[in-house]
Amino acid sequence: MTVAGERRRKKQANDAPAHTRSPDPAALLAWYDRHRRVLPWRAPPSTRADPYRVWLSEIMLQQTTVRAVAPYYLAFLQRFPTVERLATAPLDDVLKAWAGLGYYARARNLHACARAVVERHGGRFPDSEDALRALPGIGAYTAAAIAAIAFDRQASPVDGNIERVIARLYAVETPLPAAKPEIRRLAEALRRGRRPGDFAQAMMDLGATICTPKQPACILCPWADACAARRRGDPELFPRKTPKQEGRLRRGAAFVVVRADGFVLVRSRPENGLLGGMTEVPGTAWSHDFDPEIALEEAERIVPLPLEARGRKTRWRRIPGIVAHTFTHFPLELIVYTAGVAAGMPPPDGMRWLSVAEIGGEAFPNLMRKVLAHADTALATAGRLRRGIAVAHVRGTE
Ligand code: SF4
Repeated sequence: MTVAGERRRKKQANDAPAHTRSPDPAALLAWYDRHRRVLPWRAPPSTRADPYRVWLSEIMLQQTTVRAVAPYYLAFLQRFPTVERLATAPLDDVLKAWAGLGYYARARNLHACARAVVERHGGRFPDSEDALRALPGIGAYTAAAIAAIAFDRQASPVDGNIERVIARLYAVETPLPAAKPEIRRLAEALRRGRRPGDFAQAMMDLGATICTPKQPACILCPWADACAARRRGDPELFPRKTPKQEGRLRRGAAFVVVRADGFVLVRSRPENGLLGGMTEVPGTAWSHDFDPEIALEEAERIVPLPLEARGRKTRWRRIPGIVAHTFTHFPLELIVYTAGVAAGMPPPDGMRWLSVAEIGGEAFPNLMRKVLAHADTALATAGRLRRGIAVAHVRGTE
C-alpha cells in the first residue's frame, strides 16, 4: 500500500463510527479455527484438554518460551505420565527432570501441587478458579488458564502476550504494571459467551504469532479494524512500561575441590530462597561489596580439608576469568578457585562427594554448570581430571 493509501486507510478507520471498532470475539475465534498453533499439550479441535497436561505446560511456560519448553514437556510427560505418578515420585527425581528449565521453586511447587491434587481431590484437578488457586504454585493466571482451557470455564487468563494485545487494542496509556487491573477488566469484558477455552487460547496465539512485541503483523490480524494502536500507527509503543531499574551487581567466589579418585565436592543450597534445594559447589556469599582479597581465607574456612600441594606454592589456584550470570533481579560475577585433595578423603560436614560421571544427571542450576565448565578447561589442561565436567548445556536463566 502506498503512503497516501495508508493515510487514507487510517483516516477512514478514525472516522468510522465507534460501534464498528469493537473487537469481535467471533472474528478472533474464526481466525483461531484456521490458524491455531499445534502444540504438544494442546488438545485437537473439539476435544477436551487433559487438565494434567494443561497444568504442566502452564507451569513450564512461566518465564520460558514455547520452543524451549516443548522438549522438556515431552520428556517430563514420558517420565511422569499422570498426576499420581508425579505425586509419588521422589522430589529429587522431579528436580532432575526439571533441570535446565530454571526457576526451581516451580519444580518444588509442581511436586507439592501433584501431591495436593491426589490427597485433597482424589487425583482429579478441581474445575474452578478458586479451588485451583488453593493449590501450591497456582496463581491467578494459571488458575484462569486451566479453568478456561481444561474445563471451558468463563475465565480470562492474562499473561504478557494477552496484556500486549489488550493494551494495543485499546491504546491503554497507563504504564505497566499499574495498568494490570485496567487490562484485566478490558480482557474480561471482551470475553463473551461461547468457547471460553478456545477464546483464551486464541488470545494467546494472537499475541504469540501476530501481535508480537516488535513489528506486529497487523495486516493479518482479525482485529485490525478495531485496534486503536494500529489506527494511531504506533502499536509497538504499547503496552507502555515504567522504566526498569537494573539490579546491582553482586560478586563472590566458588571453590571447585577435586578428589584424586574423580569426585567433586558439592553441597545442597538451603530449601528456601534463591535456587533452593539445588546442588552447588561450595562458595562465599554473593554480595555487592565482596572483596576478592579475602577469597582464600574464606576458602579455608568454608572447605576445611587438607589440600594437596603438588609442588605448587599455593594449594588453591585461581582460574583466570570470571563466570557471569544474570538472575531475574541481579547480575552476578563469580571468581573460581580449584584445589585437589587425596583419594578417599571424607567430605566436610554438610557436604558430599559427587562422582564426575554423575554430574550430568545432578540437579545443578545453570550457574553451577557454568562454574564447572569454567573449572573443567583448566583442570583438564592441568591433567588433574579427565574431561567430563563440561556438561553445561546452559539453558534458561536461573
Ligand atoms: S492490529 Fe496489530 S497491534 Fe492491533 S491487536 Fe492486531 S496485531 Fe496487535
